[in-house]
Amino acid sequence: MTDWSVTDLGGGTYLFHWRPGFYVSPFLVTREGVLAIDPIAPTAARAYREAIATITDAPVTLVIYSHEHRDHSSGAAELAPNATIIAQRRAAERFARRPDPSILPPTLLVENHASLQLGGKQVEAYYFGPNHSPSNLALLLPTAEGPLLYYCDVVEPGFAPYRNLPDTDVVGLLESLAAVSALPFRRCAGGHGVPGPAEWVPLTRQYLLDLLAATEREYRGQGGQVPLPGEDGVAMTERVRRGVCQRAAEALRSQYGHWKGFEAWAPLTADRLLSYLITGN
Ligand SMILES: [Zn+2]
Repeated sequence: MTDWSVTDLGGGTYLFHWRPGFYVSPFLVTREGVLAIDPIAPTAARAYREAIATITDAPVTLVIYSHEHRDHSSGAAELAPNATIIAQRRAAERFARRPDPSILPPTLLVENHASLQLGGKQVEAYYFGPNHSPSNLALLLPTAEGPLLYYCDVVEPGFAPYRNLPDTDVVGLLESLAAVSALPFRRCAGGHGVPGPAEWVPLTRQYLLDLLAATEREYRGQGGQVPLPGEDGVAMTERVRRGVCQRAAEALRSQYGHWKGFEAWAPLTADRLLSYLITGN
């Protein structure tokens, strides 16, 4: 069994699936070169290069990091060592704080918006502030069905948001999902599954709002954090949070229980949202 596959979306855009179902990176093929998003990791990037070579002989001249998380941004030296590497400015700041030999630093930084042109085609990159990470770019790519939004790990059609929203700015995530809805796209994709209809952007935002409201209701309803007689602070915290998060997830099951990951992740996401209610993020 091969570790990778490629899907042709038309318009020059393809999806590279690494260990299909775990990671996906789009790439755009033009007559002047290839723009590849997210090398993923050194081993994946070697396969990515092989996959692109089955479609075109053109070199990869542009690489975009959708955001700075290592599980998407590692391995560019294996994919295209001489390419221009594009990322949001805050990604470069994060890389400088935690040097990693498997990540090539970006050579072209985006602040709020960039139109990236290559061989008569173009990719639009927008920054709507911190959300899943401080540096996520919303990328619009041409496909036969109209523009595809790639907003890696911010929206993942068919899936509940991942676990406890690691590294997430909660308010920023809600704001970004609202702001990106104004862009003209027909389908959207994250970094892991397959593309789905544009509705997954507002659906994901509504899920987070519904889970936030349910978490707040359960937390307030049981009077915040009050110890039982003889109970210490640690035991109280764990009892209260577990109960609140399980009940909040249960409240959403009839509406969202069919989303992949819901059973495992909704209580963890509720726990993250409870921290947001208590601390402000
Ligand atoms: Zn990520």
